[in-house]
Parts: sequence; C-alpha cells; structure tokens
Amino acid sequence: MKCSNCSAETKSRVFEVNICKEIPLCDKCKSDFGKCIICGENWYKQDLKNGMCHNCMESEEK
Ligand SMILES: [Zn+2]
Ligand SMILES: [Zn+2]
Repeated sequence: MKCSNCSAETKSRVFEVNICKEIPLCDKCKSDFGKCIICGENWYKQDLKNGMCHNCMESEEK
C-alpha cells in the first residue's frame, strides 16, 4: 500500500481521527504522529495532549 501523505510504498498504518479509520502512512510521515500513552493508537501530534488522545483524555477527566 501507499502512504496517503507522500505516496511512498509503506507497510505502516496510523489511525486518522477525522475519518475514524486507519490509513497507510510511511515512517517518514509517521514522525508527525505520536502514540497515545493510554490506548496505544497513533494520532497526529497536534491531537495529543500530555501524551494522551482526546478520547482517553475525556475518560480520564471523568
Ligand atoms: Zn509518507
Ligand atoms: Zn488514547
């Protein structure tokens, strides 16, 4: 499969929050992503706060 960002051949995937679906992403583009410390999913770094995705953050706040 091809990286959805730069079209390079890749075997890696990340979870795309906006479409709620996994998309192919190469290791290079993957550096824009971080892993949530709670659920272990890959998210855009801008969506992570304190290493947590917004889903986990909501459940932590309760
Ligand atoms: Zn890429
Ligand atoms: Zn999470």
